[in-house]
Amino acid sequence: MKRRINFIHPLLIFIFMQVAWISLLGLWIYWYVSNYIIINQVGQRLVPTVTASPRTQLFALIFGLFLLVFILAGFYFIFIYLTRQININRLYETFIANFTHELKSPLASIQLYLETLQRRNVSKEKQREFVDQMLNDTQRLKQVIDSILDISQIEQKKKIFDLKPQPIQSTVNSLLNNCKERFKLDQETLIVKGKVKGYWLVDQAAMQMVFSNLLDNALKYSPDHTPVTIRLLQEKQRFCIEFIDQGIGIEKEAQKHIFQKFYRVSAPYMPDIRGTGLGLYLVKEIVKAHFGQITVKSEGINKGTTFRLCFPLKRTLKEFKSETEKL
Ligand code: ADP
Repeated sequence: MKRRINFIHPLLIFIFMQVAWISLLGLWIYWYVSNYIIINQVGQRLVPTVTASPRTQLFALIFGLFLLVFILAGFYFIFIYLTRQININRLYETFIANFTHELKSPLASIQLYLETLQRRNVSKEKQREFVDQMLNDTQRLKQVIDSILDISQIEQKKKIFDLKPQPIQSTVNSLLNNCKERFKLDQETLIVKGKVKGYWLVDQAAMQMVFSNLLDNALKYSPDHTPVTIRLLQEKQRFCIEFIDQGIGIEKEAQKHIFQKFYRVSAPYMPDIRGTGLGLYLVKEIVKAHFGQITVKSEGINKGTTFRLCFPLKRTLKEFKSETEKL
């Protein structure tokens, strides 16, 4: 079936408007240039004193052009603003569907386990397994709800990060150990490389959210049992942590958008994986609050992804003290 073009689409209206204005401008300039000499000569012959001086006419033309350009620019900005709003609304609608699914599916799973425990005679071993699964589901629910609350607090500038100077290596180890436990990883599935000496300012609870989100993504968007590598790199004034996976990768175009709120890659190569599109947005905001930067690198589909976080470091605890004394 042939697709009909919708002529009332805002983009088409906008293009028509631009063409109309630019044509008018062209016509105006053409008219001015071709008629200026004749009008001037006739005017001079009929009423020599009344015709405007060439300077005034030129000024009127330039001022008119300036106004037109100003109006065009105004239209352009309004258009960009509206398109952004439309995109946000579209993303928001899919977010609601994804978010509801993220809440419903662990709840349904918990309900199923509880009903089985209530109605059947389940062995001690199975009971333990069910409880583990239910704890996993509650953890998943907690993460989704915490993300929403944190984002809302950050956006309203109400989130207070409890930044404290901590030794880098031991904090990173402890954050990774928590992740290992949560995602049931061992030394083969979570490979840690590199060491860093020094101290950083960190809110451990918030940084746990960052590590959990990045590791969750690295596992979610990779085939089962593919190892994830964490690499620590030390530089003079800062250190970096890389989360390297060997998963489905991210196309260059999508890499520009993945830190936007609600954004999820939707492409034919993308398997049906649960998510809300909030994780990386929250990660970026938390990293920013730690005076850090986050970047993404992927050579393309099925070539894995690397997220790199870099934070300022101090060699000794005293450096923090002398800095706070200066303030
Ligand atoms: P989601 O809840 O959808 O995972 P995120 O904000 O964490 O939301 O990620 C946004 C999108 O970025 C994801 O939907 C996914 O398409 C892509 N993405 C994030 N991490 C990875 C990764 N490690 N490998 C491939 N794609 C990823």
